[in-house]
Amino acid sequence: MNERLFRAVDERVEDLVALTVDLIRFPTINPPGEAYTPCAEYIGRRLSAQGFEVCFIRGEGAPGDSDRYPRTNVVARREGRSPGPTVHFNSHIDVVEAGEGWTVDPFAGTVREGKVFGRGACDMKGGLAASIIAAEAFLAVNPDFPGAIEISGTADEESGGYGGVAYLAKQGFFSKPRVDHVIIPEPLNKDRICLGHRGVWWAEIETAGSIAHGSMPFLGDSAIRHMGAVLSAFEEELFPALETKQTRMPVVPEGARRSTMNINSIHGGQTEDFFPGLPSPNVADSCRLVIDRRFLIEEDIGQVKGEVVAILERLKRERPRFDYAIRDLMEVLPLMTERDAPVPNALAGAIRDVFGKEPEYVISPGTYDQKHVARFGHLHDCVAYGPGILDLAHRPDEWVGIEDMVESAKVMAAGLDALLRGAA
Ligand SMILES: [Zn+2]
Repeated sequence: MNERLFRAVDERVEDLVALTVDLIRFPTINPPGEAYTPCAEYIGRRLSAQGFEVCFIRGEGAPGDSDRYPRTNVVARREGRSPGPTVHFNSHIDVVEAGEGWTVDPFAGTVREGKVFGRGACDMKGGLAASIIAAEAFLAVNPDFPGAIEISGTADEESGGYGGVAYLAKQGFFSKPRVDHVIIPEPLNKDRICLGHRGVWWAEIETAGSIAHGSMPFLGDSAIRHMGAVLSAFEEELFPALETKQTRMPVVPEGARRSTMNINSIHGGQTEDFFPGLPSPNVADSCRLVIDRRFLIEEDIGQVKGEVVAILERLKRERPRFDYAIRDLMEVLPLMTERDAPVPNALAGAIRDVFGKEPEYVISPGTYDQKHVARFGHLHDCVAYGPGILDLAHRPDEWVGIEDMVESAKVMAAGLDALLRGAA
């Protein structure tokens, strides 16, 4: 059975390359969210020719949504001949800006030496194209399949997914009974199954001071010096403590197999924007720090926040005139789909068939749209699986290998087959 499926994929290699090139040629740069509508319409036309019912949903009112930059999503559904489960392939259509350092046009879709180059080739238009070819090959071999197949192209993943998967998930597009199994073809390498991601807590800490003339700092109180005390407490206590927190999550790269925290930014003192080139002459009355704390499935978000608050509270007790405010900016809980759930099981079987080896199970250091499927859709049979090398994402001369796309399309087609037959 799989032989016929694999042959059907092999017969579509040229089509797969052409489809990837076409998708790259829509410059769906986010922010601001360019060209979503024509890109979604292109996907809709393609799938409607394959018998899919297609609808377009605008993430109205989502961050960044406007008539100039509508958050256009496409969801296509093809019903089978008999009842059964629904398998959904979800890809984001947005890409990050091209940036400097390219040797090819980032939006031309150059094909050379077995690779397709372009912004989004790897993250993740190559994966989207592979999933469409997988579904089309499957339909050609199994016209009488049970259940249903869905393919979506969604907006805004690169900026949090609020106008894309989050918006759709709140409306039931990623919930039972409509959908049972979700595969997100993000670039994690063709023989890896990504079960989830670490948790995220972004917060802003502000220390307060009082303004005074810079020549007489003793008359004021420097918020920047107070923040310095926060930073040294982080260096002395928090960072060493985070280093010791190891996880059983198979995060790649390995450096992310522990808790981490980044200091994203620090802004202190009076604004210097109004007087370009002229420094502030005052004692700083405010200093703001943004932290990005990534945490593990073994950690509780309350405890993660508590570690930071405990340091701030201790400084408040011990350090004269120290005062602070802390504000949550974002929180995402860690996710890890069980290895023996139907989707990872089906993909593992397909990887064995295509590559003759066991899959590698991984966890992503950062988050992606799976969080919305879990949180708003309450659907936990979801993983990321797709072609492409994650390290190439967001870089100049981004590319995806044609052979990688073909092989992962075979894995997706065979996985789809197993899931629809209830064999996973
Ligand atoms: Zn991506």
